[in-house]
Amino acid sequence: MDAKNKTVVIVGAGFYGAVMAERFANAAGCRVVLLEKRGHIGGNSWSCADPETGIEEHVYGPHIFHTSDERVWEYINRFTAFNGYRHTVWAARQGKVYPLPFGLAAINLLMGKRWSPQEAEAWVLEEAAKEGIHTPQNLEEKALSLIGRPLYEAFVKEYTEKHWGRKATELPAYIISRLPVRYTYNVGYYKDVWQGIPVEGYGRLFGRMLEHPNIEVRLEADYAEHRDTLPEHRWLIYTGAIDQFFGFRHGRLGWRSVRFDRQVLDVPDYQGTAVLNECDGAVAYTRTHEFKHFTPERRFDRTVVYREFSFSPSEADDVYYPIRTPEDQALLAKYEAEAAALPKVHFGGRLGSYAYLDMDQAIAAALTAFDQLAGD
Ligand SMILES: Cc1cc2nc3c(=O)[nH]c(=O)nc-3n(C[C@H](O)[C@H](O)[C@H](O)COP(=O)(O)OP(=O)(O)OC[C@H]3O[C@@H](n4cnc5c(N)ncnc54)[C@H](O)[C@@H]3O)c2cc1C
Repeated sequence: MDAKNKTVVIVGAGFYGAVMAERFANAAGCRVVLLEKRGHIGGNSWSCADPETGIEEHVYGPHIFHTSDERVWEYINRFTAFNGYRHTVWAARQGKVYPLPFGLAAINLLMGKRWSPQEAEAWVLEEAAKEGIHTPQNLEEKALSLIGRPLYEAFVKEYTEKHWGRKATELPAYIISRLPVRYTYNVGYYKDVWQGIPVEGYGRLFGRMLEHPNIEVRLEADYAEHRDTLPEHRWLIYTGAIDQFFGFRHGRLGWRSVRFDRQVLDVPDYQGTAVLNECDGAVAYTRTHEFKHFTPERRFDRTVVYREFSFSPSEADDVYYPIRTPEDQALLAKYEAEAAALPKVHFGGRLGSYAYLDMDQAIAAALTAFDQLAGD
């Protein structure tokens, strides 16, 4: 095989790009040139130890690995062990704290009751039926039709409006497809079989994935600025934003972003849990993250907390959550049609496919795409 056929250029060193790089180097024996515009690998999943406190910080927001996909679990365990952390989320509202997702504990605390699973379910169904909404026209109506007004107003309305920066009545109904209510006292946030945090952090995990003599990582290398200096290649795998790749020629896809205010506090424990949602609209931030709780096997005297604020990104900002309005979907279809016409360019990952993907979904999609591309 000539050099061109043995070379793959990958843009973006998040999970999608890193899996592709690792597979093309290890399983296909290719040379990989991996461009990453940031100064580190790992994409939004990256974490690193704070030099001051030693606490592992998830710089782009908390990342808990969870999956029920055996292939993904087997694959990722080649590069790291996990600590078995199982995630819980708590919600503060009007001076009280409740466990999420909605379950018997949250319902009984909210209503001051000791309902059985059957009683709680009957109450939720009755509250939802009271609304009489059969064809929801917006997010508020959809939520009311699923869980009724008391739960919606307590835990969904103001939090959702902060997160999306719009009234729930102005948000499209499709943003929520379901609002699961668990009629048990199980407060585990994820139901997946395997869950945890990489014991040495995500930075080390990505380092191991990309440790191969065939993989050349170029940091602070934006594709737009380096496209003319790349070696001839068999595939370009692009995990940056699809609209940006085409110079936004049809317009910009809609995203919501978050930013974090960081504090190091001289207390051993600030809030007693990793993630606390703020359901009250009067509190400007949506969540507080306290990273030390992700690694209960390690001891620290101090703590690091991030407060998360949502905002609408400008051109220079990183993007986080795809909005996916019908207008966005129509725009995406235009870019996808152009992408399909490009020979030997593959788009993937959350930015390349304009989709919210959990880490295990990004890995699974990359493994599947590799099998296809390696054979072509
Ligand atoms: C706040 C938040 C919390 C999350 N928490 C979880 C969680 O707990 N569990 C979970 O499973 N998932 C979580 N996720 C999802 C997780 O972040 C994604 O699954 C993951 O980032 C997908 O990897 P990716 O490679 O597709 O994208 P990314 O990680 O975004 O990687 C893309 C990379 O491409 C680079 N890039 C972009 N454009 C260019 C360019 N032009 N040139 C060079 N490089 C470029 C970017 O800098 C970036 O490093 C969370 C997401 C968010 C927003």
